[in-house]
Amino acid sequence: MKELNPLLRSFLYIIGGDIAIEVGIELLNSEEEDITDEGITENIKARLKGENPDMSFEDNTEEFLKLNTVRKTLYKLYSGKLAQFRRIRDKSTGWFIYYWWHEFDLFEEILMEKRRLMESKLRDRLKFEENNYFFVCKDCQDSNNKFNFDRAFELNFRCPDCGGQLEAQDNKDLIHFLKKKIVLIENLDLSISS
Ligand SMILES: [Zn+2]
Repeated sequence: MKELNPLLRSFLYIIGGDIAIEVGIELLNSEEEDITDEGITENIKARLKGENPDMSFEDNTEEFLKLNTVRKTLYKLYSGKLAQFRRIRDKSTGWFIYYWWHEFDLFEEILMEKRRLMESKLRDRLKFEENNYFFVCKDCQDSNNKFNFDRAFELNFRCPDCGGQLEAQDNKDLIHFLKKKIVLIENLDLSISS
């Protein structure tokens, strides 16, 4: 049985709660076959029953095991670009049958893109902080006014709001924080196929 990547698992939970995780597990483990929403529902029941033989699915409290709930969850995954389907009409009943598969590889792409974006923002900020140090007014603690050296010089090191003395701000902590954050993001394992 293939296991969901922890990041993907968390993401599925955010999209649709515990049942989205169960549906995700079934999609991941039925890559080689055509599987319908009914098939997914039956597989989840069989798997949970295997883990806990006393479980009853007839009870109304087991809301998450209804076919309709599984269908809704699949559509949530579809809206989140994590699942795809094709449908064919059953010639005998005239009803549509939906076959589902996951698109978890796209999730990896989405995450990587988010990471690239976040990392480049952090690097820009770091470069900015390293190349600029700022002057702030100690008398206006509430104001977020920061002045670079040129601007502070123009102001004669006087706060334009209250006239107080502008003092150089220590941004070592911020630089340290940004560097740590960048390393953290770089080392995040975003691969789904592990
Ligand atoms: Zn001031």
